[in-house]
Amino acid sequence: MRVHLCGVRGSTPAPGVEFLRYGGHTSSVAISHDDAARPALVLDAGTGLRQVTALLGGDPFTGTILLTHLHWDHVHGLPFFQGGDRDDARVTLLLPAQESGETAAAALARGMSPPHFPIGPEGLRGDWTFGSLPPGPLKAEGFTVEAREVPHKGGRTYGYRVSDGHSVLTYIPDHCPTVLGPGPDGLGEYHPAALDLAAGTDLLIHDAFLLAPEVPAEAAFGHAAAEYAAGLGTRAGARRVALAHHKPGRTDDELDELARRFAGGGPAAPGAPRQPGTSGVPEIFVAAEAGHGVPEIFVAAEGGILDL
Ligand SMILES: [Zn+2]
Ligand SMILES: [Zn+2]
Repeated sequence: MRVHLCGVRGSTPAPGVEFLRYGGHTSSVAISHDDAARPALVLDAGTGLRQVTALLGGDPFTGTILLTHLHWDHVHGLPFFQGGDRDDARVTLLLPAQESGETAAAALARGMSPPHFPIGPEGLRGDWTFGSLPPGPLKAEGFTVEAREVPHKGGRTYGYRVSDGHSVLTYIPDHCPTVLGPGPDGLGEYHPAALDLAAGTDLLIHDAFLLAPEVPAEAAFGHAAAEYAAGLGTRAGARRVALAHHKPGRTDDELDELARRFAGGGPAAPGAPRQPGTSGVPEIFVAAEAGHGVPEIFVAAEGGILDL
């Protein structure tokens, strides 16, 4: 499968010269079956969803959008998705089944309808279907998907494991593992849902909103540290880990520094293999090198294309 990183910023878009290289669009990842196919499955509809239109080559979007949850940075791109908001589009949008029993369209409309926004979900052009997704397996656009609930803050949140029968992508952009306890390193529990979603995956795209020193003061906002993302990937036997959902104020230079700590590479070289034992690599990975190997860890940059 081919994975397009269309938005890797968390919370709110980050325009400005300090954010050009890693990008300012919020959460959205588009998946196609191969390098020739149009994206048919999209994970999250942050402002990065606007970037998906350019991948469609002028065609309408016909496919499925899976939302991890309904926070603004995961839905605000919906009414600006030109490839989906046209008469010949066909879109199935699925979101976590709400504990209140509210329908998908009604839950979405609470944040997208007058007076908050000029139109509601039903105002989108084309053939849109809105549905609620229980945790568990589903088939979508030729992919097999597993949805599992993960702790976050303020509304039910899923992580997704997407397989095409050949390779596996795991997507957990918003995750607050400290809700379940401090875990072995104080960064949160390595709990079964996260480990199952990431087990042996080819690529884990994970919340790296925080850095470890920020966890004590800021984990209560609902996010994970980059070091946790790397630790999860290591424990789960992931092949690669993309640190994502960057804090809006995290500049390119700061993300370069994060990339150097983990991999010695910046956004231009996400495929470069990490040299085990490189100085500055967190202790956890050195320790893991005796185990089932260390994933390649890189900092996700908008516009990135990964073939799995
Ligand atoms: Zn988010
Ligand atoms: Zn969120």
